[in-house]
Amino acid sequence: MRLLDDPVRRPPTAALRPGGARGHVTLVGAGPGDPDLLTVKAARVLREASLVLYDHLVGERVLELVPAGAVRVYVGKESSRHTMPQQSITELMVRLAREGRSLVRLKGGDGYIFGRGGEEAQALAEAGIAFDVIPGLSAAQGAAASVGIPLTHREHAGTLIFATGHGRDDRSADLDWDVLARPRQTVVIYMGIATLPTICAKLIEHGLAPTTPAALVERATLPGERCVTGSVATLPSLATLHRVKAPALIVIGTVVSLRAVLAPPARRVDAA
Ligand code: SAH
Repeated sequence: MRLLDDPVRRPPTAALRPGGARGHVTLVGAGPGDPDLLTVKAARVLREASLVLYDHLVGERVLELVPAGAVRVYVGKESSRHTMPQQSITELMVRLAREGRSLVRLKGGDGYIFGRGGEEAQALAEAGIAFDVIPGLSAAQGAAASVGIPLTHREHAGTLIFATGHGRDDRSADLDWDVLARPRQTVVIYMGIATLPTICAKLIEHGLAPTTPAALVERATLPGERCVTGSVATLPSLATLHRVKAPALIVIGTVVSLRAVLAPPARRVDAA
């Protein structure tokens, strides 16, 4: 683990702005994993970076864009194994920026979608640190294109919901199950693998047809990507059977049935 090491504590003078002016933070969305899915702006900022604070979900090949001489700081954040508490991450960013450093804060997917980018931006704003936000493709968008599940479709879903299966303090999320169980919509659940049986049971309990098509997309756009399809009733046992692990998304709704036609031919027969 490489935290708070010397290069970070004592920034090279070259990185200090003239007159000791404050630094700057660029919050960058790294996309779902495949580096070709970075925005042009994100790729440019990464190629010019001298200091990068990155999360667990940032694809290895995305990090390869950062120049060899740049300082990379892993600040972690797997759901149950936080390398650095959120508050320490924000404090580190504020301190580095006050020292005059310009740094890149790199997060998986889009920083403003379940990425705590909002909390970090708030802390920067409160500290008076200048920052920019570069959006990234969220995992749901990467997964949808990669496995052939359109998230909306006029015949299937006119509403799209992104929800989290993981609440604060390691509890399962306190979601509005009546809303999530409605027909004619697509529900994508992030961080929901650990609580998948509860999620499916609650949806059925609140009126969603047990036969509603559902999918798990593991490591979307990354090497080893897998998609398991079934129904809301069968998904928990399929997840156990195929040992689906994070990072994975749960996609619920009849749009999942379109995968039979829209999945890339080589991947139409999947794990299910
Ligand atoms: N900001 C990110 C989400 C971070 S929350 C975004 O916009 O995508 C972390 C969760 O995102 C994981 O638990 C998983 O549910 C999902 N996730 C991130 N990358 C993923 C990937 N490549 N494949 C499938 N799910 C992914």
